[in-house]
Amino acid sequence: MAVRRIRQLGDPILRIRCERVQNPKSAATRLVADDLRDSLAVARKKYKMGRALAAPQIGAPVRIVFVQMDKQRWTMINPEITDVGPHDFLVWDDCFSFPNLLVRVTRAYQITVSYTDPKGKQHTMELEGPMAELLQHEIDHLDGILALDRASGVDPFAFRSEWEKLREAAERYGPPKPREV
Ligand SMILES: [Zn+2]
Repeated sequence: MAVRRIRQLGDPILRIRCERVQNPKSAATRLVADDLRDSLAVARKKYKMGRALAAPQIGAPVRIVFVQMDKQRWTMINPEITDVGPHDFLVWDDCFSFPNLLVRVTRAYQITVSYTDPKGKQHTMELEGPMAELLQHEIDHLDGILALDRASGVDPFAFRSEWEKLREAAERYGPPKPREV
């Protein structure tokens, strides 16, 4: 078990385009996946939020994402968005790499993600709403992109403390709307 420090905004590793994993079953891959799991568990307790971490956030520039929702966990190796639906939605997004800030972004409402698991098996998942947003956020991390780069609309940034004074949790996710091109 190793809990690693979560890299914070300004750390250049958050801006690296991460390398593809060549061997999903290797000990090195397992180590990163285990450290993501352990680091996420500690961060969730500390911040009372969060469902996922991407490898560069713990200093490993490889294409691995770890997701935990309720009791389900996924280690996604080389995840890729292979399709997007016709709707977008607005989301007030957050990130362990800038935990005190919320940023409003536009994301696809439905996506198809393919990835390899630690046993080397390929999977395809269709996701919508908050899970679709989450995976878009995490896969962006693997390309050195942060939610801040996707700020959308007028006045898209708020400190969490201010946001929580003015808005309800239900306002985090807007309704799906046909994509504007
Ligand atoms: Zn993040």
